[in-house]
This record gives sequence, C-alpha cells and structure tokens, in this order.
Amino acid sequence: MRLILLGPPGSGKGTQSALLAERLGVPHISTGDMLRAAVAAGTELGIKAAAHMDAGELVPDDLVVLIVRERLSQLDASNGFLLDGFPRTDVQAEKLGGMIEEIESGLDAVVLIDVPEEDILRRLSGRRVCLACGAVYHIDSNPPPEHRRCPEGGECSFVQRHDDTEAVIMERLRVYREQTSPLINYYKSRGLLVSVDGVGSVREVFDRIVRTL
Ligand code: AMP
Repeated sequence: MRLILLGPPGSGKGTQSALLAERLGVPHISTGDMLRAAVAAGTELGIKAAAHMDAGELVPDDLVVLIVRERLSQLDASNGFLLDGFPRTDVQAEKLGGMIEEIESGLDAVVLIDVPEEDILRRLSGRRVCLACGAVYHIDSNPPPEHRRCPEGGECSFVQRHDDTEAVIMERLRVYREQTSPLINYYKSRGLLVSVDGVGSVREVFDRIVRTL
C-alpha cells in the first residue's frame, strides 16, 4: 500500500504512522525524523535544515524532495510506503506525483487526521521524546516511564523538542494553515482523501484509520 498521512503538527501522525506501517508491513518514511537525524549527525543537509526547523518554518522544498526521492528509490519502498509529514506544500505534492509515476504505481489513499487547533497546543507543549529512538510520551496523558530501555542502547532520555515550545508551535500551525492545508483539497479533488477524527486514544484513532482503509 502507498499511503500519505496528513494533518497538523501534533495530530498524532508520527504515532499512527508507526503503528500503521507495522500493521501493513511497509516502511514508515518520516521527513521530520530524517531531518532530525541529519541535524544530529551534523551533515550538510542537517546544517541547512536546522535553523528552519528551530524556527518552526518549512525546510526548502528542493532539500526535502531530494531526501524523499532518495528514500523512495530504496528496495524496501518498492512494494509500498507510508509517508509521514510529506508532502507539506503544493510543490512537494507535484514532485511526489512525478516520482510515483516514475515507479509506475499510484497512491492508494491520503489519510487526514483531523484535530482541532485548541487540542494541538496542549498536546505539543506536553510532548516528550527520546532523541535517540524517537519514543513519544505526554506529560499528562502518557507520562514517560522512569526507566525505559532505549533500543539505541542505555536508557531513553526524554526531552522537549526544540520546536515544541509555545511560540514555535504557533508558527508551525500558521505554516500548516497556509502551506499544507491546501493539500486537503488537492487530494480530495483526486478522490484520494479520507478524513479521520483524531480526537481520542491512540488505539481509538488507529482503529478508525484501519476501518477507513
Ligand atoms: P515533523 O516531525 O513532521 O513535525 O517535522 C518537524 C520539522 O521538520 C517541521 O516543522 C519542518 O521544519 C521540517 N519538515 C518536516 N517535513 C518537512 C517537509 N515535508 N517539508 C519541509 N519541512 C519539513
């Protein structure tokens, strides 16, 4: 299956994508995770991306398109993939369309996880992540365990992401409204969009997504 998960920051895209990719047996391709890995490794891409990410802005299309093109050309993506956080602009959506045509396949669906803005600020400001393995918790609804084994070695170390502070969250929401939300109509007009209510427990939302597919 070839899927895109679309939704505002904090809608649960990352969590749901990981579960769904496992269920479907396809790679979970998160541009946010790839960019954070590049920043942590101090690569040329990471250096170019870091300032945009810290400010809550989008990383320029040409850089992101390049990493997605490279990732989709890997063998494990040949039978399907789940894109999380890409595309985020109309240029990226057009480029993705071209890449998919090149591999002579089509998208199966674009799942929109719908969460009201008032819930998002609360979700993101309480989010804590392990920077090594990406495990995600929330200080109220799902507090990080004191001792969690990190698959990367040692114990997980939970921190607030640089871009989960209130000012940056507001900017990320503005960017979503202006640059990413037009993709809802873009995919609706192509008959690919399915919308899922993103309010509820992880399991409830996951079950809704599975039912729609
Ligand atoms: P995410 O983890 O998906 O919330 O992404 C974190 C940050 O990475 C975003 O706020 C952007 O700065 C950057 N980013 C991730 N995906 C994209 C994309 N498709 N286009 C541009 N920037 C992106």
